[in-house]
Amino acid sequence: EVILEGQGLTRRYTTDTGRVLTACRNVDITLSVGETLGIVGESGCGKSTLLRLLTRLEKPDEGKLLFRGKDVTGLKGEALRRDRRHIQMVFQDPAAAFFPRMKAGEAIIEPLLNFNRLSRQQRLKRQEELLELVQLPKDYAGRYPHSMSGGQRQRLGIARALALDPEILICDEATAALDVSVQKRIIDLLMELQRRRRLGIIFVSHDLALVQSIAHRVMVMYLGGVVECLPGEQVWERACHPYSRALINSVFTVDMDFTKPITLLEGDIPSPLDMPQGCAFHVRCPQRMEQCRQVAPPFYQIAPHHRVACHLFAHQKKG
Ligand code: SF4
Ligand code: MG
Repeated sequence: EVILEGQGLTRRYTTDTGRVLTACRNVDITLSVGETLGIVGESGCGKSTLLRLLTRLEKPDEGKLLFRGKDVTGLKGEALRRDRRHIQMVFQDPAAAFFPRMKAGEAIIEPLLNFNRLSRQQRLKRQEELLELVQLPKDYAGRYPHSMSGGQRQRLGIARALALDPEILICDEATAALDVSVQKRIIDLLMELQRRRRLGIIFVSHDLALVQSIAHRVMVMYLGGVVECLPGEQVWERACHPYSRALINSVFTVDMDFTKPITLLEGDIPSPLDMPQGCAFHVRCPQRMEQCRQVAPPFYQIAPHHRVACHLFAHQKKG
């Protein structure tokens, strides 16, 4: 049961000097009810632009966005505002979204007040419900977020995102600023909320080890495009795009398999302004071939839920 679908999403920006930067290139994405989709890539890979397209903070130059099968790409004004409540974001630093003089209880129900008039009693009730959902004591409603720990503030960020009963939660590096033990508790909370509310979660991170451990499916992005998409549990063994392999080898240092060659990435990430011809990864790819410099690879379907954009798999079926 697909809730959100992006087809061929493309977004370009023109710089002051008139150069064109393609921040998001022909991205296909689907999210089902109750599913966690992980999106992983280094900074500058287009994750943030993709999120702005999915949350309709920006419109794609090309491509479409469907919510429950309905085309929402061109929604404007009131229709857009109403529709947006279904997709909410959790940020790396939720405190930045809270006004310093606003108590936690008010901060978490604030998004709701844009839509509904609530009596004082209804407000208090909703505050309590939301605090309970994120496993914070009721009396935290009267505290100031900046007096809380990072983990508690992130719980408030999640509570605030849930205030409008969204169907989709987008977590953008939501645990990146937290200690590992706190991070784990926040992830457990998200997974618990997902089970109880059948939330679709898009979990965006540069941390492949984390993403593959929680996501049903993982999308690997490089320079604005998707290079590989596969089930989370298969990432370690089956990911085969040279960029994915390089990420894995740089991540899994502890129990690394030393029978496989260790690939270190050569070179810097090219600027999206100087997009290489052919495969976007060819400048750094240890396995590049002659054609990689000229021809952008299409997707090949190498297993039922596994697609990879790389010429090394040209013997497989396109798809
Ligand atoms: Fe490397 Fe070529 Fe595959 Fe690109 S298409 S990842 S350059 S082998
Ligand atoms: Mg970013």
